[in-house]
Amino acid sequence: MKKIILSAAAFMMVLSCQNDQTEPTTSVTNAISKRDCASQDVLAEQMKADPSLALRMNQIEAFTQKAMLTNRLVNGKIVIPVVVNVLYRTAAENITDAQIQSQIDVLNADFNATNSDFNSIPSEFAGVAANVGITFELIEIIRKSTKKSSWGTRDVMKNGKRGGIDATDPTSTLNMWACTIGGGILGYAQFPGGSNATDGVVIDSQYFGKSAAASYPYNLGRTGSHEVGHWMNLRHIWGDASCGNDLVSDTPVHKTSNYGVPTYPYESTCLPAHNEMTMNYMDYTDDRGMYMFTNGQKSRMSALFVSGGARSGFGI
Ligand SMILES: [Zn+2]
Repeated sequence: MKKIILSAAAFMMVLSCQNDQTEPTTSVTNAISKRDCASQDVLAEQMKADPSLALRMNQIEAFTQKAMLTNRLVNGKIVIPVVVNVLYRTAAENITDAQIQSQIDVLNADFNATNSDFNSIPSEFAGVAANVGITFELIEIIRKSTKKSSWGTRDVMKNGKRGGIDATDPTSTLNMWACTIGGGILGYAQFPGGSNATDGVVIDSQYFGKSAAASYPYNLGRTGSHEVGHWMNLRHIWGDASCGNDLVSDTPVHKTSNYGVPTYPYESTCLPAHNEMTMNYMDYTDDRGMYMFTNGQKSRMSALFVSGGARSGFGI
């Protein structure tokens, strides 16, 4: 059992230690060989720029832990309205309505345990596998032509004055941006507690949705499931540290990120001896290698939507 309650100081330390990855460049990469998500790097940058963010996130953490302990979770159905913002220079970047809907369909399957590979969960982990019970409804697609060849990870795509598209009603809508990010980054999300203007999820156009237009091995829409997990306050399963803490009690400790499709059982090098849950959406495996959230992750996500929660504006 992991220690899931961190003091404010320890929490800030965890976050400040995570900015050790290479800063993405603005070059366009066509072939990404290893999954890379910029959510933690972006968070570290935001914390440097805004010292009050750590305080807000600590408050959200305290609320989350309390809501989970007191089982004060959501009974009703959570429906998340989604606006998809498409920024395109090339025809390929101007992804089709069908491609966009396929991403919404993947989110609905993965967050409701109706994904076809849910049955592949090893029996060791089946007992904690979750039906998160959150659904997503596409309400609008906004498209904008641009001359920019890549957008990076500094939220420019979310700024209309800088050529991007402003977020629509971010306190009650999930905004997703589809654009070329560059630097080998598949996507990134903003954690709860950040600025409303930049709230949402960015997914590279090549990896948005599920169809022949998306690029293997990230062609099943799981970058979206992973990033929406972050947007709902989930950490990487390895806690962004060696044998780190993801603030969830029913996920095994992971040494680090896993890639490709590891063969089960995948024994951890963290002690005591145990197997890693490489098929969790919050690892870095290929799309076909990830197909479950846990009940602990579900509780963490659900705590955002109760009265007083960081995403209570979604009107549950
Ligand atoms: Zn991530």
